Amino acid sequence: MKIGFIGLGNMGYPMSRNLLESGYDVYGLDLNPEMERRFEALGGQVGQSVESLAKTCDVVMTSLPSVVAYEHVYLAEDGLIRHAAPGVLLIDTSTVAPENNENVEKVANDYNVRFLQAPVSGGVVGAENRTLTFMAGGKASVFQDAKPIMDTLGANVFHIDEKISSGTMTKLINNLLIGFYTAGVSEAVALAKKQGMNLDGLFDVMNVSYGQSRIYERNYKTFMATNDYNPGFTLSLLRKDLGFVKETMEQVGLDLPVTNVLLDVYEEAEDAGYGEKDMASLYEHVGKQKIT
Ligand code: NAD
Repeated sequence: MKIGFIGLGNMGYPMSRNLLESGYDVYGLDLNPEMERRFEALGGQVGQSVESLAKTCDVVMTSLPSVVAYEHVYLAEDGLIRHAAPGVLLIDTSTVAPENNENVEKVANDYNVRFLQAPVSGGVVGAENRTLTFMAGGKASVFQDAKPIMDTLGANVFHIDEKISSGTMTKLINNLLIGFYTAGVSEAVALAKKQGMNLDGLFDVMNVSYGQSRIYERNYKTFMATNDYNPGFTLSLLRKDLGFVKETMEQVGLDLPVTNVLLDVYEEAEDAGYGEKDMASLYEHVGKQKIT
């Protein structure tokens, strides 16, 4: 089976590597030539264009960082949908807004193209270790055809329902919780540090108490304790997802007070220069705030 993979970044690179290692014939594509060279070094082949992947692959997967990239790759004149050969299966794993999924599905239906929206959770470690959770929305028959590939890349593959944006809605709830936990861990540990507490010891106690969370473990062990914020999941990507949460709140007419503040805090951290660092770097940002 020939699989195209567009977007070879923090998530796309390990996913495409696992597909290669599982014996698929994988053609990668990225705007950044460095990412393509890195993929080639694994033994992957670089595709010519989005259009050529749509015409020649059985499946095309995407992992893209923004709505602009997502709409371009799927909907442009030289994009996937307009050039998809009959029977091609398109699977997107990016996090964008529900309405973006609906726009792409509408055009896919016009062109009779099979499309599944399947955002993922589990981070780079999950992508590397094939332990991702897939949260897919779309037609059951399309999901069934895509499932063997998702099973290759993840440990938990869910079909939320036939509504194309149902996986994204699930993923946004997940990332709202990630936003809360990351802010909570950042502020709690910043307070502990300011008091001169033993932070490794604190983690060990919290890890067997109700203060425990997988985000505390991830953020503390990999990033905060090592003072290395190479992503991972960038703070800007989390801010993007909280922006989609905010749009959704507005659409349903719900005003969630803490979520509003949360978005402001991530925006401030991004403005202060933490955007391209891992989200765990919020800890550094909040640790610098002083009572004036
Ligand atoms: P990333 O920025 O590391 O990778 C995205 C890649 O897409 C980059 O290499 C970029 O050059 C490439 N790209 C951008 N526009 C393109 C285009 N038009 N054509 C081809 N390539 C293009 O981002 P990431 O962390 O890998 O995240 C990708 C998606 O997965 C995002 O939607 C993110 O929200 C989601 N996600 C990320 C994580 C994580 O832990 N990093 C976890 C779950 C979901």
